[in-house]
Amino acid sequence: LSREKSRYRDRTTDSAEMADELRELVPAGVCSTFRAYDPHPVHADRAEGTYLFDVDGNRYVDFALNNGAQLVGHAHPRLTDEITEQVQRGTLYTRPNELLEAAARPLIERWEAIQQVRFTNSGTESVMHASRLARAYTGCEKLIRMEGAYHGAHDPALVSKMPPLEAVGPADDPNPVRESKGVPADAEDQLLLAQYNDADSVERLLRDHGDEVAAILVEPACLNLGLVEPESGFLHRLRELADEHDVLLVFDEVKTGVKLAPGGGAEYYGVQPDLVALAKAIGGGYPVGAFGGRREIMQLIADDLEDGTATGAAHYGTYNGNPLALRAVSVTLSEILTDDAYERIDDLSERLAAGYRGIIEDVGLEAHVRRAGSQGMVYFTDERISTFRDWSRIDEEFHEAYWLGMVNRGVFPHPHDASQQWTVSVQHDADDVDAHLEAFADLATDLA
Ligand code: PLP
Repeated sequence: LSREKSRYRDRTTDSAEMADELRELVPAGVCSTFRAYDPHPVHADRAEGTYLFDVDGNRYVDFALNNGAQLVGHAHPRLTDEITEQVQRGTLYTRPNELLEAAARPLIERWEAIQQVRFTNSGTESVMHASRLARAYTGCEKLIRMEGAYHGAHDPALVSKMPPLEAVGPADDPNPVRESKGVPADAEDQLLLAQYNDADSVERLLRDHGDEVAAILVEPACLNLGLVEPESGFLHRLRELADEHDVLLVFDEVKTGVKLAPGGGAEYYGVQPDLVALAKAIGGGYPVGAFGGRREIMQLIADDLEDGTATGAAHYGTYNGNPLALRAVSVTLSEILTDDAYERIDDLSERLAAGYRGIIEDVGLEAHVRRAGSQGMVYFTDERISTFRDWSRIDEEFHEAYWLGMVNRGVFPHPHDASQQWTVSVQHDADDVDAHLEAFADLATDLA
C-alpha cells in the first residue's frame, strides 16, 4: 500500500494542490464525506463516455461511475442532447407537465410493485419518504433494518450503518450505534436491527415487537457491503413475514434499481415489495430519486390536513419532479436502457468477472468474485461474506492496495472502498473490460 500511495502522490500533484486549496473553503474539500481520501482524492477535470480525466491529465477507464449512478456512462450523447434542449425550454416549472407521465410510466412498467410513483431529488429523500409513508399507512413507528446497511444520510439511516465491529454487541441483539454527532438519541428508537440473510432474526423481532413495526426496510442485495446477495429463500421469507405480521416490505433499490435487471432487485430475485425507493441510475447521472408502490399506500400522499389533523403522509419539495430530472429519467429508461443494452451489459460484466476469476486462479490469490447484472466485485478472502458481521473477514488495507494499484494503472475499478462494486455501463465495450483486466493481471502478481 505504501508503494502504491507514493506512486499515486507522484501521479496526482495537481489534485494535491487543488485539495489543499479546497480544504480551506469546504470541509475536507468535498461535498459528501464519503469522497474524502487520504492523501487526497483524484480531482476531476472532465468525464466522457467510459473515461474520467483528472486535473493532472491522467485518463481512467471508469467502472466506479459515481457510485453506479451512471449505468449510461458519462455524458451519453443522446441524454446530453435532450437535456440541452430541455434547458432551453426551462429548467423548473413547479407545474405538472407531460414529462411527468414520460418518467413515471417506465418505472411503473418495470416494477410490478409500483402502481404509483412520486419523484424526489436523491436516494436519501426517497428512503425517508417511503419510511414515513410506511409509518403513515400502518400507524406504527418502528422499522426493522439490517445492521450495517446504508440507506442514506437522514438521521435514522445513520444508526448502525457499518458500525465499528468492537461496538456492535451480540449478533442476535445488536447495539444501535450512531454514526454521527447530531443524530438525536431517539433515532435509535425508530429502529429494530436484524441481520441480512438471517430471516430468523427478522422473525424474532416481529414476534416480540410486531405491533410496533411499520416495515421491513432492506436492500434486495447489499451493495454497501461489496456485493452480498440474498441467500436462497431470504427475500421470499421476508415477504411472507411481512404478510403474516401486517407490516410493509420496503426495498431500498437506490443502488440495485435498474442495475441488477430492468426492474431492479425485485425482478432479479423474483420478490415484489410494497414500496420501492429509487435514485441514482434511473436518472442517467442527473440528480433524481423516486419512491413508489401499491396504489392504496401511495394514495395516502394525496390526502392532506383536515381540521388540523393529518389524514395522509406529507411529500413536498421545490425541485421534486423538475423537468431536467424527469426528462433524464424518461430518456434513460425508455431510450437508452433497452433490452439490448441490458444484454450487452450483462455479457461484458460476465466477461469481467470471468477474467478476474482466471487471473485470481493463475496467480493463486486468496480472493473470490461476485457478480449480479452490471454489478460485481472481488473480495480478497476465500471466506463467504453473507452478512455485515462477516466484514471482519475483509482486510480493508489490502483492498485499498488493490484499489489504488488499479487507479495507478489507469482504472477506477469501483468507488474507493471495499464496500463498493463495479458498474458496467452501456458505453463500455470489450476493450474497456480488457483494459481493466490487463491492469488487474499486472497488479495481481504484486498482490499475491
Ligand atoms: N440507499 C442506498 C442503498 C444507497 O446506497 C444510497 C447512497 O449511496 C442511498 C440510499 C442514499 O442515496 P443518495 O446518496 O442519493 O442520497
